[in-house]
Amino acid sequence: MLSNPVSKYTAVIGLEVHAQLLTESKIFASDATAYGSSPNTSIGAISLAHPGTLPKLNRNVVELAIRMGLACHSGISRFMIFDRKNYFYPDLPKGYQITQDRTPICKGGFVRINLDDEEKQIQLNRIHLEEDAGKSMHVEGTDDTWVDFNRAGVPLIEIVTEPVIRSSSEAYAFLSEVRKLVRYLDVCDGNMEEGSLRCDANVSVMLKEATEFGKKVEIKNMNSIRNVQRAIDAEIERQIGLLERGETIFSETRLFNADTGTTCSMRTKEELNDYRYFPDPDLSPVEVSEAWLDEIKASMPALPDELLNKFTSYYKLPPYDAGVLTESRDMAEYFEEVCKHTQHYKAASNWLMGPVKSALNEGLRTVNDLPVSPSTLAQLIELVESAKVSFSVASQKVFPELMTNPDKSPLETAQQLNVLQTSNEDSILPIIDSVLTDFPDKVLEYKRGKKGILAMFMGEVMKRSKGKADPKVANQLIQKKLEEK
Ligand code: ADP
Ligand code: MG
Repeated sequence: MLSNPVSKYTAVIGLEVHAQLLTESKIFASDATAYGSSPNTSIGAISLAHPGTLPKLNRNVVELAIRMGLACHSGISRFMIFDRKNYFYPDLPKGYQITQDRTPICKGGFVRINLDDEEKQIQLNRIHLEEDAGKSMHVEGTDDTWVDFNRAGVPLIEIVTEPVIRSSSEAYAFLSEVRKLVRYLDVCDGNMEEGSLRCDANVSVMLKEATEFGKKVEIKNMNSIRNVQRAIDAEIERQIGLLERGETIFSETRLFNADTGTTCSMRTKEELNDYRYFPDPDLSPVEVSEAWLDEIKASMPALPDELLNKFTSYYKLPPYDAGVLTESRDMAEYFEEVCKHTQHYKAASNWLMGPVKSALNEGLRTVNDLPVSPSTLAQLIELVESAKVSFSVASQKVFPELMTNPDKSPLETAQQLNVLQTSNEDSILPIIDSVLTDFPDKVLEYKRGKKGILAMFMGEVMKRSKGKADPKVANQLIQKKLEEK
């Protein structure tokens, strides 16, 4: 049998990720950056490149990019300039894009991924700042092209990896990690469908024993992490097919079609412009002082990796739980808040991964929208852990009731729902046993016919159960126990 041709090859992948920075205004102008506003309503003279206008750098952009760089263990440039990347396109009013060529704001670094319990560091080449272009819209059924300049000048960081990714699942893990990081850091909303996070994938294949990389093909137009993975798989298969048939691979840009799961050629690299990068004389160089850098470092939130460690070592959660809970910063913070009010950490984790997650799946966007506060949830957990309410009753009755009436206490709610566990024989019997053992004389009196003494036993049981025993059940149980004596 012939060996599978695919196994002769290694895939080489490098990703270029654009993340739209969460600033209120554009990178070099005061126009708002709000997504989804009507076309051409967020455009000023600078975004439209009116003659005589000058760009002015938004400081916040530098801070957000540095935050991402610090989270990725990158070197931070203390001195940088902006460059012009020259090309013509209708959505680019200036005729050039302002970007960073020689002096990216962050150099090197890595993002840690975990795949099938194996860790790998994906090396970054750089993270640089640049402005976005406008958006051309081709009106269906006509020859018209419309241009919306709202996006022109919106700040982006571009994260460029080294060609160190070896499979589509590594690419998937890397992008998931990057999306998690930008969200933790409040650097970008991470929304691929709306285009605030975009990824171009560079893919080549080579024979396993080859010493040089093959020609790379760049794929664009993927609107989800899953589709990046699919596009890479399709491209690897296409390239191996070409090589197996003895054909050559051209460097080109291809578009992914999510409906067919295939890529098609958009342009070959040979047709590409020479961008003629040069320093933008309209912008002064930026110096990042020690004090500014310290300020940015101090403003960094805890990173997912750090929290993952804390959740397994301090809260003693299993790695699986820690992974799920640190998936988003909101969830991790909610968990830590709950743990300020209860020491039952594993129970808290079960509650978040179980009933709370289910509630979120029913339409809430994040755990911050949960009506039940962390301290209320902690009280409910305490009720369960002290065996006052069973977990199933707590999750199926008390919790849903708290979701609609979050201001009531879990205990009050459990009482109103009449689900407190003291009607449960197992929790009452030991109390009765102890009372009967402590009062042997009274038991004898009862046996001799003084039935009225039952009231005394009832009083004692109620006292010792702190009023939580169901009187009816307790009464029956005491009589039964006395008959057995
Ligand atoms: P270009 O000069 O075409 O811009 P770069 O060297 O700047 O290429 O790399 C762009 C992206 O392509 C990077 O993410 C890099 O890791 C990736 N890349 C470079 N060479 C290859 C290759 N042979 N196969 C796959 N990806 C590659
Ligand atoms: Mg390049």
